[in-house]
Parts: sequence; C-alpha cells; structure tokens
Amino acid sequence: MMNYKELIASQRCYFNSFSTISIDFRIEQLKKMKAQISAHETELIAALKEDLNKHEFESYGSEIGLSIVEIDHVIENLRKWCQPQKVASPRFAFPSTSYTKYDPLGLTLIISPWNYPIQLTIIPLVGAIAAGCTSVVKPSELAPASANVLKKIIQKTFKPEYIAICEGGIDVSTALLQEKYDLIFYTGSTQIGKIVYQKAAETLTPVVLELGGKSPCVVDNTCDIEVTAKRIAWGKLINVGQTCIAPDYILIDEKVKDIFVEKIIKELKACYTDTPLTNEQYGKIISKKHFDRLLALLKDEKIIHGGQCDSTSNKISPTLVDITDVESAIMQEEIFGPLLPILTYKNIDEAIMFINKRPKPLALYVFSKNSQTIKKMEQFTSAGSMCINDCLFQITNVNYGFGGVGDSGMGSYHGKQSIACFSHNKTITNRGTWLDLDMRYAPYGRYSLEFLKKAMRWSF
Ligand code: NAD
Repeated sequence: MMNYKELIASQRCYFNSFSTISIDFRIEQLKKMKAQISAHETELIAALKEDLNKHEFESYGSEIGLSIVEIDHVIENLRKWCQPQKVASPRFAFPSTSYTKYDPLGLTLIISPWNYPIQLTIIPLVGAIAAGCTSVVKPSELAPASANVLKKIIQKTFKPEYIAICEGGIDVSTALLQEKYDLIFYTGSTQIGKIVYQKAAETLTPVVLELGGKSPCVVDNTCDIEVTAKRIAWGKLINVGQTCIAPDYILIDEKVKDIFVEKIIKELKACYTDTPLTNEQYGKIISKKHFDRLLALLKDEKIIHGGQCDSTSNKISPTLVDITDVESAIMQEEIFGPLLPILTYKNIDEAIMFINKRPKPLALYVFSKNSQTIKKMEQFTSAGSMCINDCLFQITNVNYGFGGVGDSGMGSYHGKQSIACFSHNKTITNRGTWLDLDMRYAPYGRYSLEFLKKAMRWSF
C-alpha cells in the first residue's frame, strides 16, 4: 500500500506553496484534464462497458459528456465567480469597505462510488481544482476498469503532490481516513456516509456527503400518462436503476394505476424487447452481492411484470412489483436496481404523509398537470431536489447545486456551487484610519448607555 502519510504531507506542502492560488493555474489544469478525458474517450467507453455494460450512448450522455459540460461551464465562469463580492458595511463602522472572498479549503479527499464512476469522480474534482485545492481521489474498487482509466487520466495530467489517485477498497479508504484533510467529499451509501462522518469528526474536518435513499415518484390522475410512463421507465432503467436519483418507487393515484402499468410495460418492451436479459443494450448489476441482494428483495413480492434474471451475466429484467405491505423489505432499503414497486393512494395528502413519514429523499418526482398538486408537493415535502414531469433532469442543470438533505446527505456541488463547496467564503472588513471616534475606547462613562442604544439602532 502507498505511503499515505508522505503523500498527504507532500500535498500539504504543495498547497502551502500557493501554487494552486492563481485562477490562471486552475483554468490551465481544467483544460489539461479536459484534453486528457477527450483523449481517453474510447477507453472510458470500453471501461464503462466492461464494468457496467453501459451502452456508449449512455456512457457519453451521463458520464463523459456531463463531465466535459461541467469543465467548460467552470472554465467560462471561474474568473467571475472568484471575484470578491462587495457587501454593505454598517454605518457604525464608517469608514470601511466590506467584501467576501473564496479561499480554497486546502487538501481534500474525494471518495467516489461505482455507479457513475467517471462523472462522480471528475465533477467533484473539477470543483476542487476550480476552488484551488489539492486532492486525493479514491475511486470505487467495484468499477476497476473505469478506475484504471481515471488513474491514467489523473496521472498523465497532474503531479501527485497536487492531485493523486489511490485505487483500492475499504482498506485504502480506511487508511486514507486516518489522515487529516481540510474537506472530505464523499459520494456513496448512507450507511458508509455515517462512518466517514464519524471519522471526520475526530479531526473536526468538514464533510460533504452525497448519499442515497428511496426517491419517491408521485403520479396523479391529471398527468400525461403516456409520457409519464416513458419518462419513468427511462429514469428507472438508465444504468439499470443503479442511479442515486432513480425513481425508487411509484406512488400513484389508484384511479390511473392500471392504465399506467399497461403503458409502462409497453414502454419497457419497446426499449428492451420481450427478452431484455439477452439484449446487448441492457445493463448489468455491478456485482454478485448486489445481484443477490436485489433478488432477495423480490422474495414474497407480487410481481406484475418481469422478475427474470441471469446469474451468469448479472442481469435482472425490468420488474414491476405490486406493493401490498409497505413494511416489506423492498420498501425499507434503497433499491438501486431495475425493480419498481408500485403503491397507490386515494388523495394527494395521503401521498405527502407517506413521504414525510420516511427519511428525506435525495430526489422527489411528481407527474401532474395540476398546479395545486405540484405546489403542495413543493411546499409540504422535503427532498434534495425535485423534478416535475420528468426524472433525473434536475442533475443536468449546471446553474444550481446538487445535493441531499437529512439522510440523503449534506452539502451540494456542481457549477458555481462547487466553488462554495470547496472554499471558505471569507469575510473581510477594511477600515479607514482617517476617522477614529473615541466612543468605543475605555474609560467608559463619557457616553451614556442611552446614546449607545440610539447610535446602534441608527447604525445597523
Ligand atoms: P459505498 O458507500 O459502498 O462506497 C462508496 C465508496 O466508499 C467506495 O469508494 C468505497 O470503496 C468506499 N467505502 C466502502 N466502505 C467504506 C468504509 N467502511 N470506509 C470508508 N470508505 C468506504 O457506495 P456504493 O455502493 O459505491 O454506491 C452506492 C450508493 O451511493 C447508493 O446508496 C447511492 O444512492 C449512493 N450514491 C449517491 C450519489 C449522490 O450524488 N448523492 C451518487 C451516486 C451514488
């Protein structure tokens, strides 16, 4: 195993040399990384095929393309975002100017998962570079082909004292977590997120936790049922459901359940044929462990469609499940696979109550044409993000941050928000010396308390 102490010491030394401070330097690094990503495009596509059987269209759209869009957006705006921001000063402090300025946090650790192994490593790294930090990157051991290409990209682009990659599993993560960082950026399960958070607390290290959970998908009786079925099928089956913001389960108005089931089955067949297990474009489950976990979730459930599996290819067909018992296993843990439980509600308040009784989700979907329903869902539920009448699209907008709330995480990133995430927003007051009122100085008693109260009321 690499000597992490030495690596961390070299990164700290590099950060303290101020080499990462200039915006020109940061932009230069982002350009270099973009060039290497493009140069390795074919290898990245092959690696994603090997790890997850992702089709090149999905690999480019949801991994390589998203990473490049993020880099371009950051390069274009970084100078503007990093300008000090003037704020008003209290009259009491006259003469003075006040402003805020982003300071890079310093040495960061980025731990990423296997499901979107490229973009979930590159996009946080873009934030770290853009903010002027150094980084140790730990990709997931469960997507080794992708980790290997990431390693090539990172090692060809950066010196290890600036950006380093450490491949490996829990042992490597655990060893890395023994060291002190200025930020730990973790993407993965809620369960491991708690371990990371506990470890970070020992050294008072701030964390960003990009976690998972069960993202509900509410379908009411006013929605465009045909488009709804198509979009949900797409959102669920991209990467065979191994997406942190995939719709986890459907909460549907009982009046439209049958027609929805009919439409979604039609869509599943249109996309992946009657025999998805032998369809080359249909992805696979990442590991035997997850394959077995998913099959166990189906035990004793009422399957309305699908349910077939192939243990040699780790594939499970798109499966619709009729939920009769909300306490069953499939309704307790994040599914993270191509199983879609369907529950019905009688009125929208019932659906809201159902959601609010459970941990706050990473994403919430509402399919409806009723503005009252949409407003209610916005106002009376809490989720990391919401998307109305589609799935996953909220993550593609670089103009706002992405992150969870409660059990689905803390902190957010993407675009400008990544600068905030990897920086400290330092506040600065610059006082003039040409006026120096003596009121504040001891000995007190020269000005009455009444005068101070008036002055303070006027001042702020
Ligand atoms: P995971 O938590 O098992 O692993 C993620 C990373 O943590 C890997 O690099 C792994 O090596 C490391 N790790 C594993 N055990 C560890 C330990 N004991 N100590 C320290 N590090 C450890 O998650 P996963 O299975 O790779 O990813 C799936 C989960 O991630 C799902 O819950 C999904 O919802 C979530 N996720 C969230 C987002 C998001 O943006 N919020 C994105 C993708 C995935």
